[in-house]
Amino acid sequence: MRRFQPILIATALTSIALAADFELKVSKEELNEARVKLLPLHQKLGKPKRGEWLAEHEERGQTFDQYLKSDTIKPWGLRNTIYIQPIGEFSTEQQQVLDETVSFMKIFFGRDVIVQPALRLELIPAKARRIHPQWGDEQILTSYVLYEVLNDLPANAAVGLAFTASDLWPGEGWNFVFGQASLRSRVGVWSIYRNGDPAMGDAAYQLCLRRTIKTAIHETAHMFTMLHCIAYECGMCGSNHRTESDQRPIYFCPECDMKICWATQQKPLERYEKLLKFCRDHGLKAEAEMYARSIETLKK
Ligand SMILES: [Zn+2]
Ligand SMILES: [Zn+2]
Repeated sequence: MRRFQPILIATALTSIALAADFELKVSKEELNEARVKLLPLHQKLGKPKRGEWLAEHEERGQTFDQYLKSDTIKPWGLRNTIYIQPIGEFSTEQQQVLDETVSFMKIFFGRDVIVQPALRLELIPAKARRIHPQWGDEQILTSYVLYEVLNDLPANAAVGLAFTASDLWPGEGWNFVFGQASLRSRVGVWSIYRNGDPAMGDAAYQLCLRRTIKTAIHETAHMFTMLHCIAYECGMCGSNHRTESDQRPIYFCPECDMKICWATQQKPLERYEKLLKFCRDHGLKAEAEMYARSIETLKK
């Protein structure tokens, strides 16, 4: 059994109908111009090291232009809200990490993010739980969460995401996953379990917040039909293990980030100003620096 397991994605596509009266707030041309301006700020991916995602997975990548031309899921029209379903109990600090992640998601996706009342862990049946045979971790089966817990999304849901403090495993042959998404059903799940204990001081809290935000936006972006990035150091790069995911930034490269701006119809400059404020307020230094440089570049 492999020690580390990647974050999974499904690749089935579905589309959300564009409401007839939906008014575009940003144009493709405007976003393309921003993409070209911002690209020089970003670092290209080097050759993958042994054991890293791209050393083991053949990925085709997806440019901004390809995204525009493909049939993508966007939170347009009626289905415009992100729902989060907490499962199980959270410590005070874990709850704070979730609350702050929700605040970040609201800005990143420019959408309402509604957190529903937590579901008790006991409601997950024995067939969807296990103790890891070697490590002893208590785990929840991701497919049960995706297809049984999240099977009845509200009418205005763009996507539904479950969030848990329990470890996740995706079934036979796997050890664990940090998160998993199903594009066909517009649902995902992610866990704080392997993100470190946020009660162990400021540095541990920061690390936990950073990891939790990273998985939340990565999985949600997959649900807006975004594929992995193969070009830049970017939050949409695939990760085979923790060391690899820790070295990736929260921010997306312009090729990927303009897809978010298109899908969520946000103006890059206004969005970066809000993201910069969040990152400064929460000590996310590398991200704050990138957003500050992006603002400066876009203003030129
Ligand atoms: Zn992924
Ligand atoms: Zn990217």
